[in-house]
Amino acid sequence: MYINTHFHLDDPWLKGDQRRQEAIRDIDRNHIVTLAQSCSIESYEKILSYSNQSKYIFPSFGILPWYAHEYIDRMEEVAELCEEALMLGEVGLDERNAEDKTCIPHQRPLFKIFLEAAEKKNLLMNLHFRGTEEEGLNLLKTYDVKKAIFHAYSGSLELMNQITDQGYYYSVGLSSLFLNRMKRRDLFVERVKNIPDDLLVVEIDELPTIEWFKMDFEVSSTLFPKIIKAIADIRNSTPEEIKSQCHENVTKLIGNDSRLMNIAKILKKH
Ligand SMILES: [Zn+2]
Repeated sequence: MYINTHFHLDDPWLKGDQRRQEAIRDIDRNHIVTLAQSCSIESYEKILSYSNQSKYIFPSFGILPWYAHEYIDRMEEVAELCEEALMLGEVGLDERNAEDKTCIPHQRPLFKIFLEAAEKKNLLMNLHFRGTEEEGLNLLKTYDVKKAIFHAYSGSLELMNQITDQGYYYSVGLSSLFLNRMKRRDLFVERVKNIPDDLLVVEIDELPTIEWFKMDFEVSSTLFPKIIKAIADIRNSTPEEIKSQCHENVTKLIGNDSRLMNIAKILKKH
């Protein structure tokens, strides 16, 4: 079975309802365990309702750092939603890719709400750091975060040693298919090679479209084998090995987290 540790089911990532329904049906029919990320409170509400459509979709509560300035007066609401969440994501720090730079001074106070919740409740965090990997890692340590996935890690190889020492996971996804289009292809390959077997997980992030990826729209069940094959090629491994390793890794990552027991049950069955 496939386990997609980071996925967007709402717009603007998944453009339109028709595609969304197709994506949800595909997840359900093919039993693809999907950790559905949210990027705002509104996005979380949508994800909660989509997750009712399949027992394989698990909602994650997060606010992307790009929108931090919209939450200056909603911090209490954010903290309350963290209390009930199954897991947190996608959250983090990102000044580099934020289009609206107004968010920058508000990213850290917002991220700290999520860190406090993760520390208090031992919640799994799905993390988005771009150019802020080291600061992010230090904050995770400060808050004693135990369960974390660095989504599409784009930091240095040196820092990976410290991340690995902490036992944090790395999710690799769609970009592994685009090696020939990448400017910093070699660095990407080195990072993917540098992930220890027991800390690698796989994600899709968003389904491809012609507009953004110059690739036809495709659902998870057909895309996943391609991503896994690409990762296996980079790591001189086989798709079967990558698949079973990820199954084992996600099982370990979830551990005995009572909020994620339904995921554990599905993983055990397959
Ligand atoms: Zn994402």
